[in-house]
Amino acid sequence: MPVRLNATTKSGNLLAKDTFQFSKVEHDCVTPEVGHESVSLEAVNESVMHHPLGGPRYMMERCQDSMMYARKYGNASFFITMTCNPNWSKIRQSLFHNQQPCDRPDLIARVFDLKKKLFIKYVTGPNGLFGNSIAFVFTVEYQKRCLPHLHCLLWLDEATKPGPNDFDRFVQAEIPDPQVAPELHELVLKHTIHGLFCNHTSPCWKKGACSKKFPKPFIASTRCAHNSNALYRRRSPDMGGFLGHQEGRQHRPITSDCVVPYNAQLLKLFKCHINVEICSSIKSFKYDIKYTMKGNDQASFKVNRDDKISQYLTGRYIGPSEAVDLILGFLTHERHPAVFRLQEHLPEQQRVFIRPDAAEQGTNDAMTRTTLTEFMALCSQEPFPRTLYYADVP
Ligand SMILES: [Zn+2]
Repeated sequence: MPVRLNATTKSGNLLAKDTFQFSKVEHDCVTPEVGHESVSLEAVNESVMHHPLGGPRYMMERCQDSMMYARKYGNASFFITMTCNPNWSKIRQSLFHNQQPCDRPDLIARVFDLKKKLFIKYVTGPNGLFGNSIAFVFTVEYQKRCLPHLHCLLWLDEATKPGPNDFDRFVQAEIPDPQVAPELHELVLKHTIHGLFCNHTSPCWKKGACSKKFPKPFIASTRCAHNSNALYRRRSPDMGGFLGHQEGRQHRPITSDCVVPYNAQLLKLFKCHINVEICSSIKSFKYDIKYTMKGNDQASFKVNRDDKISQYLTGRYIGPSEAVDLILGFLTHERHPAVFRLQEHLPEQQRVFIRPDAAEQGTNDAMTRTTLTEFMALCSQEPFPRTLYYADVP
């Protein structure tokens, strides 16, 4: 991607102006001697910065796309986070002698991409694990120690959407009975325990407590919450809940207050940390959308250069797994169905693009037309479109 950005900066193939109004003024100033050089690099950068994967504008656009689904379909039904397991057999079997998974970001990226495809196939579509899915959006993030993880929002149709009575069928937050489900019991203890040893050195520790709010309170039965995801049943040993022990920590029994909500089928299939939440309130859903589209970790510092592409390239951190994903062209974001973005702008403030060979002619009518100008034109000609919202006009 940096190659693409650099090429765009240097080639001058595409001249872009911020707005139509600006381009009219600029065009009047272009002389044959100065030619295309008079087009400000900043204006080119502004438009190029529209595209980089994972960039702030990119994530903002994806966030707005997700809100479009919310407008059409309402609350998402499920919010799922799947984290790469460096001990997956496919990764372990392919390591060379004395290698650790973190030495092979190529392996991690390839295996995670396969798991990601399987996951999407498994949970989406008319016969998905949770029901008939009508929309989904997923995005991949990368931890600095190179393990990727996936956030997915899933919308189900009204007929298969889980009601409060179905929550326990899809999501559990308890240690299973070791006699009845020994495999699941082991997987839960291995992959879905958080908060057992949270302290000030843990990444989740903020303002003197675990930011994920572990350990959670014991609850006898699952219920909806007004301002968070559903509260799942977590029974203490007194209420009939089960205890567990992690390898090497036999002295400290684990209770269900430390279990991250999971789906038994997904956990058995993927054998990794896979957090499944039911979006039971609009507030939790809005948080989930923001969390899904928050983008990669960021640090703020000053770069003394005016060139915005250089600023972006210098300031962005790309870990090894993300680099491999980008080189191999793996999808780091996908959504279904497609969202068509309508333009919004003030009069004559729309963005126009001009190629060098056409710069002398300036802007023409076709360049300046946008979905909004055409909607306005339609409304001025016909009375019926005036009764519709902008987004409802085909
Ligand atoms: Zn914690």
